[in-house]
Order: sequence, then C-alpha cells, then structure tokens
Amino acid sequence: MYVLRAYKTELDLNNTQRTNCARHAGAARYAYNWGLARKLEARQAGKPAPSAIDLHRELNLLKITELSWMYDVSKCAPQEALRDLDQAFAHFFRRVKEKKAGKNIKVGFPRFKSKKNGLGSFRLTGAIHVFEKAIQLPRLGVLRLKERGYLPVSSAHILSATVSEKAGRWFVSLQVEMEIPEAAGTDKPVAGVDLGINRMAQVSDGVHFENPRALKNALTKLKRVQRVVSRRQKGSANRKKALRQLARAHYRVANIRKDALHKATSLLAKTKSAIVLENLNVSGMIKNHHLAQAIADVGLYEFRRQLVYKGAWYSCEILLADRFYPSTKRCSQCGQVKPVMGLGEREYQCEHCGFVIDRDLNAAINLEQLLYVS
Ligand SMILES: [Zn+2]
Repeated sequence: MYVLRAYKTELDLNNTQRTNCARHAGAARYAYNWGLARKLEARQAGKPAPSAIDLHRELNLLKITELSWMYDVSKCAPQEALRDLDQAFAHFFRRVKEKKAGKNIKVGFPRFKSKKNGLGSFRLTGAIHVFEKAIQLPRLGVLRLKERGYLPVSSAHILSATVSEKAGRWFVSLQVEMEIPEAAGTDKPVAGVDLGINRMAQVSDGVHFENPRALKNALTKLKRVQRVVSRRQKGSANRKKALRQLARAHYRVANIRKDALHKATSLLAKTKSAIVLENLNVSGMIKNHHLAQAIADVGLYEFRRQLVYKGAWYSCEILLADRFYPSTKRCSQCGQVKPVMGLGEREYQCEHCGFVIDRDLNAAINLEQLLYVS
C-alpha cells in the first residue's frame, strides 16, 4: 500500500548552483508578490480576483516582453508560487470564517514576501530523479546532497521537490508516495473517492452517492431565511426571530447532510480495504458562492472524519492525496495532465489519448491510482 511522505535534506551546492537556486527563489517570490498585487488591484476595482491559472497565463505573456529574465528559470517556480498564493487566500478566508464562528484565532491577510527572512523557496514538479549522493531537478541539473542515502531512491513516486534557503544553507524537501506493508488478511478492494457539491461522492468503481433530495429543499429554505435576516433591521425583535429560524434551517441542513454521509461512509468503510480521498482545501472547487462553499467544506470535513473512525472499526485504511495532486486535471487512462479544467466541464476529454469520461469518475480513478504507483 502506498502513503504520502515528505523528506527534507541539505544540498551541497557550488556557486553556480547557488546562483541558480537564488534566481528560482527570486522568480517564485516575484510571481507571488506580483500575483498578490494583481489580486489586490482587482479587489479595489470591485472585480473578482484572478485565480492562479489566470495569473499564470498573464505572467506568460509578460515573459515575452518585460519579464524575459524569467526564461532562465523553470516555469514551475512562478506557477507553483501562484498556486501557493491561491492557497494563502483560501486559508485566510477559512480562518475568517472560523473566527466569525467564534474560534479564538488570529487572522492574517496574505502578505508580500520580502528577502528579510532569507531567499525563500520554490517548488518544482516534473522530471525529478534521486541518486544515492545527488538529486536531479528540472533546469537545475544534478545537485549534490550532504547526506547520503536519506532520500528514497526507488519504489517511491516523487510528486514535487521544494528547494529552500535558510541562513545561507540550501535544502530540498521531497513529497513522495511510499510503499508500506499491506494490512494483513484483507481481500476487500481499494478505491478512490471524489467528493463534490452536485454529487456527494463518486467512487472509482463507478458507484456514486447522490445528495438527498431533502437537502436541496432544506438549502432552498435556508437561502430564503437568510434573505429575510438581511432585510430585517439590526437589533429588532423581528431580526432575532429570523435569526432563530436561520439557525434552525442550518441545523436541518447539517442533519440531513450528516445522515447521508453516515450511510455512504459506513458502506465504504465496510466494503473497501483502502480509500484515497482528496485533501481538504481543494482550492477553486467552487467560487463566489459562499453558501455552497460552506456546505461543501463541512461535507468534505465530515466525510473524512467519519471515514477515519469507521475505517479503524472495519480495518479500512484512509489515505489523503497530496493537495497538489491534479486529480481532476489528470487523464486516468494515459496520465496526461491538462493545464486547465474548467469548473463547468462535466466530462473529461483527453486531448492526448482521446479518452472521454465523467469528470468526477475520472478524479476518483486518479485518486485510486495513487495506491498503485510504483
Ligand atoms: Zn489520456
């Protein structure tokens, strides 16, 4: 069985390599700060903030003209930095929501990165090879390692490498899938499960769990009550009454959802030996729809929580995919990864091998395949 692990070790760089790494970190920082400025601009102009994908496209155009120095670094460095920026915002909005819900936490708005705390870091994906004394990275070539034999050479599938600087020393952190011994005496199949809004859960074997119709009705009611609340004057008795109604509507939605989730998670934990789920905070899953977002987040979180404890009861291993694993953008047939997969596209159509498949099923199969990589 395969699990995800990170390995961090120190690099032994010559001067040229140091310069190259610093240049990559610089490009990542530049892209991050430029993207943050672009998002703030949009916000001030009252427009929706551009996503990592929008920004990367824009940045590629700028490379042709004023940012030609970026051709010297791997395109991954700025691209992954823009993804991090999206994550930083997703994290910020989540914390705001948690604070509003009464959690005693600090909420920090995403900040510009400065060189004050060192040169920073960058992340690369693609062709990464590990040798006993060295690691080979895209664009940077073969870099020597200070510690021999620590990074897993074989039987590991490398998802990404993050190179970072701290006090003049350079490190590399590998995100890998590792094989662990199979749980004893189980003949149940494994599965990947993709969670969504329209469809509650899609299993890689083709089975899916729909959202109960009662949930849709309860959500419609919830939206209506929410509108009533916003129309009532603050502090008035009528507003208090509407708020009580709203709380009840929320409670009802939560209960219906929870009940449906229980049925699905029980069945899955009993019939599978291992299940791969996407990790939480799947950015860009739904945009500009706070209610749907909130419900979806709760659903994802609750689904995972239930599966983890039920998995322990029925000896079903629950694994989480790395949050950068492109489960929706990858072709489950040939492994090709699309640069973009629009939110509205219900079908995955592979331009590489011509495979056509339901979007959610494709994602679920990709998640399941994380268990087989070698
Ligand atoms: Zn394909």
